[in-house]
Parts: sequence; C-alpha cells; structure tokens
Amino acid sequence: MKKTSSALSIPQVLILLAIYILPLMFFGINAAGSGELPYALIYGLYLLTLLFLMFKTGKISKYRRIFFVSMALLFFPAFIHDLIIERGTMLIPQSTVVNNENPFCHIVIPITMIPMILKKMVIFPGRLMGHYTSIYSMLVIWVFMTISLGRGWCSWVCFYGGWDDGCSRISQKTKLHMDNRAPWIRNLPKAMLLFVVLGSLITLTSIYCEWLCPFKLITEFESPTNLRNTVALILMIVLFFGTLIILPILSRRRVNCGLLCPFGAMQGLIGSKIAPFKVKMDKSLCISCGQCEKHCPSFSMGKNIRSSCTLCGECIDLCPTGALDIHLRGKKRIFPKAPAFFKELLQPRNLFILAAFTGGTIISYSFAIHSLKLLVNLF
Ligand code: SF4
Ligand code: SF4
Ligand code: SF4
Repeated sequence: MKKTSSALSIPQVLILLAIYILPLMFFGINAAGSGELPYALIYGLYLLTLLFLMFKTGKISKYRRIFFVSMALLFFPAFIHDLIIERGTMLIPQSTVVNNENPFCHIVIPITMIPMILKKMVIFPGRLMGHYTSIYSMLVIWVFMTISLGRGWCSWVCFYGGWDDGCSRISQKTKLHMDNRAPWIRNLPKAMLLFVVLGSLITLTSIYCEWLCPFKLITEFESPTNLRNTVALILMIVLFFGTLIILPILSRRRVNCGLLCPFGAMQGLIGSKIAPFKVKMDKSLCISCGQCEKHCPSFSMGKNIRSSCTLCGECIDLCPTGALDIHLRGKKRIFPKAPAFFKELLQPRNLFILAAFTGGTIISYSFAIHSLKLLVNLF
C-alpha cells in the first residue's frame, strides 16, 4: 500500500503558523538585547520558513535537522563570548568553583538529582537561583519539556544534539555498521547512566562533567596545569571528535546521544513514559522493508520502537507505506469525526511538531540572535 501524503494545504499551514507566531514574537522580542532586534527578526523568519516547509511538504526530519544543527552551531559562540565577558577566559577558574558560579546544563540533571534527594547535597558548583542557567531554572525547563515532549527533547530542544545528528547525515553510505539489535547497543545507555549516577553518588562529585562530557571542549574546561586536568582534557578532545564527529559520520548514527549521554538515557527511561506523543507502527501496513531500522539515527528501531526514540521523524519520512506516525496517547487521529480540513490539520504529528518546534524556539532564541550578531560583527 502506498503512503498517503502528509503535506498540508496553504490555508492549513497558515493556521498552524499563526499559532506558532505568538510564542515566536513573545520570546523573540523578549530575547532581543540592545541592537539585536534585526537579528531577532532574521532568526524569526528563518524559523517560520523551516516550519512552513515542514508542514507544506509533510517531511519532518530534513527541516527539523536543519533547525537542530543550526541551534547547536549557534549555541557555542554566544556561550563562549559570555564566559569571556564574565570571567575573561573559557577556563574554569578556582573562584568560579568556590563561588558556585558555573552555568548548569541539563545533561547533569540525573547526576546531581540523586545526591540532592538522598544526601541533601548539591554536588555541582552552580547557583541554585539567580542565574539564567541556574539549577532551579534548568529543572523547571526540564520538567515542563519532559511532560510535553519526553525524549523528543533530544531531537528538537537540546542545544548540543545537533552535532552528532548533523554528522550522522554527512555520508551517504554506512562505513561502520552498528547493529541496533545488538545487546550491547541496547544496554550501553542504561549502563552509562547507572555508572555516572552511582559514581557521582559515591564520590560526591559530578564525574560526568569532570571526565566524560564531550561538549566541554566547546564550552568551558579546567586549565591543563596538572596531570589530572591534562588527562581530563585529552579525554574530552577524544570524546568530542570521536563520538560527535567521526563515529557518527562513519556509522550514520548519533553515537553520543544514542549511546553515551546520561540525560538522553534518563529521558528514554522516564520522559518517554510520561510524554503524550509517541511514534507508533501500524504492523498491518508494514512490508518489512527495513528502511526504518537501517536509517534510525538513535538506535531506537529494532523489533519494536524503543523508548529511546527521539521522535526525529526520519523513519516516518522514509517508510514507504505510511506504517509509522506520531500518535497522541495511542491515537493517530484525535478528532476522527471532524471535517477533513480540521482532521488533517489537528493530526497528532502536526500538534507534536508545533509543540516541539516551539520548545526549541524558546530555548534557542536568546543565544541564537546573540551569536548571529557576534558573527556578523566578526565578519
Ligand atoms: S542525548 Fe544528551 S546531548 Fe544528545 S540531545 Fe539528548 S540531552 Fe542533548
Ligand atoms: S520502513 Fe519500517 S515500518 Fe515502514 S514498511 Fe519498512 S520496515 Fe515497515
Ligand atoms: S524510531 Fe524513528 S522517530 Fe524514533 S529516533 Fe528512530 S528514526 Fe527517529
């Protein structure tokens, strides 16, 4: 059976864009600092164009990836620039650690939460409140996004994930085969999560941040003035190039996000159970062509769709029969008796795209326009 197109008509697309434009304008104007309004407008138009193309063509993954990769690339110029303004360096000085002034990132939520609950101790040198990336503000964002998007966070909202997502589509051919069904691939994310959570609890330090984070290289790291810091820096360089660039290019899989990130593993275990949207397969339509398993970047498609699915849309776009789609609480259609115009418009996939793209917009607006301004000034 041939797939029916999910492309929407222009009036349908315009209705969805009209809903999106409210948060876009609110966050765009609020995020714009002095002299940044033109950049806020440029970024807003860019986002509107991508969302328009997603709805008009019915293809999710291609335009989502363009957005996701640009978000990742626009994150670090603003982050590094602000660090240098605040501290004068990308290095983590001792005073920052002593004064609890490190920006808190969502990846360490599973590592810091357990000691916080069990030992009543914050093991990360970040501010609890009063800073944009304070621990509480990040926890609030995480809870809200997890309830609405689950592990969709990892293909639509995270400002790191675009690295391995983009690199996983650079090569047309798979040069290193990583079998989704291999037991070690299925179990590695959970093992990694257990390791860093237990390790942090025993040592009462954020061991992932100190030793294993591949993003440290493009954010902040300790000065390699002693053996410990030099080893940590070498490890971070290897992880950055290995898991975010080289292995994703060779395997066409998101090696860091699919296997090694503790936050991703936690979202798979908890977020995907809570979130209302899920990718489902209609087995009566499946012709076992294997396209979904072959191309799933997140190692999530085996015999069934796993909870590690990031709702990236790749398999949905590639499936030749339309067997895969995004469902809302198990339903493919939420208003089955509505007139065709609204039934198509309010499909769960469209509602999910709207929610997830809005989430990514809210997270990215401020740093994206800040980086755009910096890059324009630089060139
Ligand atoms: S797995 Fe980790 S780094 Fe990757 S997108 Fe999710 S939170 Fe971000
Ligand atoms: S892409 Fe996957 S779900 Fe679709 S027909 Fe092929 S095997 Fe079945
Ligand atoms: S199962 Fe489909 S939607 Fe989920 S991560 Fe894999 S390709 Fe993306």
